[in-house]
Parts: sequence; structure tokens; C-alpha cells
Amino acid sequence: NEQVHLVRRPQGAPVAEDFRVVRGPVPVPNDGELLLRNLYLSLDPYMRGRMDDHHDSYAPPYALHAPPGGGTVARVVQSRRDDFAEGDLVVAPDAGWRTFAISNGADLRRLPSDIKQPSRALGVLGMTGFTAWWGLTAIGKPRYNETLVVSAAAGAVGSVAGQIGRLLGCRVVGIAGGAEKCRRVVEDLGFDACLDYRAPDLAGRLAEAASDGIDVYFENVGGIVQEAVWPLLNNGARVPVCGLVSGYNGAPDASGSIHALLMSLIVKRIRVQGFLNADHLKHFGEFEQEMQRWLDTGQLRAHETIIDGLDQAPSAFASLFEGANFGKLVIELPA
Ligand code: NDP
Repeated sequence: NEQVHLVRRPQGAPVAEDFRVVRGPVPVPNDGELLLRNLYLSLDPYMRGRMDDHHDSYAPPYALHAPPGGGTVARVVQSRRDDFAEGDLVVAPDAGWRTFAISNGADLRRLPSDIKQPSRALGVLGMTGFTAWWGLTAIGKPRYNETLVVSAAAGAVGSVAGQIGRLLGCRVVGIAGGAEKCRRVVEDLGFDACLDYRAPDLAGRLAEAASDGIDVYFENVGGIVQEAVWPLLNNGARVPVCGLVSGYNGAPDASGSIHALLMSLIVKRIRVQGFLNADHLKHFGEFEQEMQRWLDTGQLRAHETIIDGLDQAPSAFASLFEGANFGKLVIELPA
């Protein structure tokens, strides 16, 4: 049973020495348990917070000398439960960074046995797609002809949030790292514009691209990107705060004053709301139907960066913070 253990808490950006590939026996399920074989592992920025030892997060820290966890698509290879059979395909919320895992069946989501691209159940049809859909529609509440700005626009959540914005009739401006990535955000994802936050004068370029101001800001990044967006928010703007990835490896790269920020909320009657996808899962079925329809009709495109082999998980995970992925980052394990 190949596993990747977290053996040291990362200082700043995660490095290879924080992880170790470990081999051990395949675990044996007891009565009421299942043995899962993971086929795909989801790698997500929130995992970085759980690698730290502090407790101000919404999720507990990962233990050292154990696999971190995280979402997987898995096949049931042995069942000692009546509700799952050998061969069933499931999404397991926290069985990751190992080949085989034991499950008590709780929180598993069953997938159709004939599903064509099971990895999508971790991305566009899973946690990150749902996050984009909920954050944008329930909190951002975009209206026809409004301007939506999405940060980390080429990533798993951002790529979907921006495309949904287009489907709802918004003018959509993405912000992402690098000219080539921005070109793809416009050409492959259909955003109206995309700005490279690493190039000079983001604020000036954004003011031009969003010349009517910004009505909805889907916040994935924080830092200098947030600083460029804030002055352009219109009266009555909505800001779903989904994530602040620029600060996950340490201090964010900007230090705006909270007082000034709060004052702008009053002056412009802006609504800023943080959210966690896990609180809204009763809407997952509704999301799944709508997203499946958009995918089937070709109105929305799913992009994935799939990397082969569990031993690649540490470097692939670190690369999330350098923007190596386009769309959802997933590890494929041998079947
Ligand atoms: P992504 O696929 O977007 O990957 C992360 C991306 O962030 C990278 O590709 C990179 O793109 C960008 N990035 C990394 N470091 C920086 C930086 N310092 N400044 C600007 N951009 C940076 O990940 P997800 O789509 O999974 O997650 C996006 C955000 O959504 C995260 O903040 C995450 O924590 C949050 N999230 C929140 C959830 C919730 O329930 N609230 C659920 C899921 C995700 P680039 O090349 O553009 O720099």
C-alpha cells in the first residue's frame, strides 16, 4: 500500500523533505467497513493550512507521519457492508495520499458505474465546481450585464466561476499569473478579458478592463490582487470570499488596513461574505444537474491538469502555489 506521509510541517512553501513515500501492507476491513482503492486524488490549496499545527482553521491539522487525507475517487475492492458492493465507484472526502484506505461508508458519494471521466467528480462536478456555483450564484448574485472579476481565474474554482458568470450574462474579467495562462482563460474558457497580475500596473489595467466598475468580485487570492480590485468595486457590489491563496504559504503579499477596508463597505454598501462549500451540500443535487447540463450542451468547459503517480503528489501540491495547473489539479493512481 503506497502512501505519502507528511513528515514535517512546511515552513513557507511545501518542499519534498516535508513528505515521504512509505510502503506498507494493504489494510483489512472489519465488519461494517469497506476497502477502497483510490484512482484519483484531489490536490487543493486548503490542504496547506491543515499541514500547519495551529488551530484557527475550520479543519483540524493533519497528523505527522500519516497520509494527509483529501478527496479521492475510489473503487470499492472489498465490502463488508450491505449498502456498497465490490466494484462500486465512489467519491471519498478524506481518504487521500494513499493507494488503499478503509472506510466506514459515511460521507461516500456513489458515482454511476459507467461514468466516462471519473476525475471530474473531484473538480467541475465535485467540490470545486460546487464551490464556484454556490459562491457565485448564492452570494455573488450576478445580474445580467454586470461586471464580474474572478481571481485565480484559470484554477479549478475560478475557471468554473467565470464561465458560469458568462452564462448568466456578465462581462467577466479574470486575473491570473502569466500572459500565456491569461490567453487561455480568454480563448479556452471564454472570459471577456484576463489580466496577468505579475505584470506591472494591475490596478491601471483593471480599471481599463472593468471600465464600468466591478459589481461582483469572486475572491480566491487576496494580497495585491485584492488591493487592485477593491477601489473599483461599485456601490452595492458583492464579494464572495472563497479563499486567500496568496497567504497560504506565509504572509500575504499586501498589507491593506482593515479599517480602510471596512470603511469602504459602508461607503459603497458592499456585501462581503465568506463561505464554506461544506455548509451548503444540501444543494449539491441541484448543482450537479445544472452543471451536467452545461457540460452536455458544451456551454461550459472542464479543464484538468492530471499528473501520473502518487509519488508525484508532493511536487504537484507545491506547484499549486506557483500556478502550474490549468483547471483542476488531480493525481491519477494506477488502476
Ligand atoms: P486553483 O486550481 O485555483 O489553484 C491555485 C491557483 O492559485 C494557482 O493555480 C495559482 O494560479 C493561484 N495562486 C497561487 N499562489 C498565488 C499568489 N500568491 N497570488 C495569486 N495567485 C496565486 O485552486 P482551487 O480552485 O482549488 O482554489 C482556489 C481558491 O478557492 C483557493 O483560495 C481555495 O482555498 C479556495 N477554495 C475555497 C473553498 C470554500 O469552500 N470556501 C473550496 C475550494 C477552494 P496563477 O497562475 O493564476 O497564480
